[in-house]
Amino acid sequence: MLRLLIAALVIRFVWWFVARQMRGASEARPRARGRSVALVRDPVCGTYVEPARAVEARIGSTVHYFCSERCRSQFRRDT
Ligand SMILES: [Zn+2]
Repeated sequence: MLRLLIAALVIRFVWWFVARQMRGASEARPRARGRSVALVRDPVCGTYVEPARAVEARIGSTVHYFCSERCRSQFRRDT
């Protein structure tokens, strides 16, 4: 019984993975390799943003990029 359950889980996972791969091929995904634009991660909400369009915050020598002004102000509040 337990084996059957594990098998079902594995099949589900494989199916999910295949579906995800197929979606990724047709849609532009933020982390897709081979794209020309390098993306940076918003440290507050985890969204991937283009540095050119992102909201910047320079802290010391490091530049942080955010998806919105809200995330930037939250980041500044937290640090
Ligand atoms: Zn954000």
